[in-house]
Amino acid sequence: MGMCLYVKGAFHTRREEAMIPLHDHGLLYGDGIFEGIRSYRGRIFRLDEHIDRLYRSAQGIQLDMPGTRAEMKALVVDTCRRTGDENLYIRLVVTRGTGDMGIDPRKCRSGPGVYIIAGGIQLYPPEKYDKGLRVVTVSTRRNRVDALPAQIKSLNYLNNILGKIEANQRAADEGIMLNGEGYVTEGTADNVFIVRRGELLTPSEHYGLLVGITRGVVLQLAADLGIPARECGLIVHDLVTADEMFLTGTGAELVPVVEYDGRPVGDGRPGPVFRRLLHAFRERCLGEGEPYLEVVARTSLAP
Ligand code: PMP
Repeated sequence: MGMCLYVKGAFHTRREEAMIPLHDHGLLYGDGIFEGIRSYRGRIFRLDEHIDRLYRSAQGIQLDMPGTRAEMKALVVDTCRRTGDENLYIRLVVTRGTGDMGIDPRKCRSGPGVYIIAGGIQLYPPEKYDKGLRVVTVSTRRNRVDALPAQIKSLNYLNNILGKIEANQRAADEGIMLNGEGYVTEGTADNVFIVRRGELLTPSEHYGLLVGITRGVVLQLAADLGIPARECGLIVHDLVTADEMFLTGTGAELVPVVEYDGRPVGDGRPGPVFRRLLHAFRERCLGEGEPYLEVVARTSLAP
């Protein structure tokens, strides 16, 4: 499995060579942003949408991006090309940069640090797509949007990690996080959908969730397939009484939930709407994307 690691102007192939400075505020304070992206058969899926989200996250934390969107895109393409691999998970990280101790971002005079990992994909085991996941509601509430907006995909993932720890302790595959008012937001690292009487439902943005790119693809696919779909407010009652449930994310794609809070979802097996959407999703992934294997090398962003 090929791997390429971009660290502030240089490409590496071995983990041991790819180091970040200890005084990077991304490490010291979680001051930075990231994207998780995938490629299928030598094409990067929805790269423009990921780059857009990254630049919006940067705007949200007033981080001046080094270079244009086109340059960032070219750098991701180049990093992927160097792996020689067709199917990659790509982690694009931009930190505030290195500086003295203290949270003040003005200390980071080095300018932002850009890091890219292009390598193998860590997936749910294949049987989870057939057998489905056990999911629980966790007690850790999703961050208030007026404290840390969910749309900023920041290096501060402790809110989600605390939710994940709870799910682990209850031997669940994933945890659903509610907002302060008790409305469903999302999983700890994925969005949630239910099917109720043939209609596809997912929490809308203003309940305080990251608007996932996979979530957007699923809503487009539903429209294409003539499956009625709606963004709305959902509570735990809606989840425990759903006919079907599934999670979406770049890594997970679409993964079914067969047990929620100890009760079977529908008949306890992945449902027909989920199966239709997963099939359409996999076709869509293979049919589009930014090609990289035949692309000629580009210069990197300045460190
Ligand atoms: N919510 C959270 C909190 C996430 O970390 C992710 C994964 N990036 C998602 C949702 C799913 O988003 P996407 O489909 O863009 O990967």
